[in-house]
Amino acid sequence: MVTITNKEPLLSHNRKFRMTRQRQVILEEIKKVRTHPTADQLYEMARRRLPHISLGTVYRNLEILSECGMVQKLDLGGAQRRFDGNTKKHYHVHCTRCGRVDDVPIEAVVKIQTTFQGASNYKITGHKLELLGLCPQCKKAKKALTKRPGRRAGRKSNSHP
Ligand SMILES: [Zn+2]
Ligand SMILES: [Zn+2]
Repeated sequence: MVTITNKEPLLSHNRKFRMTRQRQVILEEIKKVRTHPTADQLYEMARRRLPHISLGTVYRNLEILSECGMVQKLDLGGAQRRFDGNTKKHYHVHCTRCGRVDDVPIEAVVKIQTTFQGASNYKITGHKLELLGLCPQCKKAKKALTKRPGRRAGRKSNSHP
């Protein structure tokens, strides 16, 4: 899912922002992957470089980085909150079976807002769109499951490199 708004990142307005070493490492780690990691996963990644970093620090820094528009906080219903190092406007598709999240390489449909403008008394400033489905692995696993009933398909975890 993505929230397309006309809002600019707050970075220039946030005078309190300082790039600490911990923040830098978290930012570098999230930019390295395209898996849309959770805070817990980012903690594991950051810990390889900063063994003394705490989970709380990772959470706090992710909040600050997302407030400043340097990472994107994804609000995918039900699942654990995920983060995205890609701050460009883009849509996500979400696997309903394993929770994997991928980017959908299409332009944000800004036209949708023009379409809805006038349908209510509101001034439309953004929209949310979440695509749901089965990822390639789950699609395969499901097929195998239907072919050979009784055999459980391996649940592949969404691990990051
Ligand atoms: Zn899946
Ligand atoms: Zn993304």
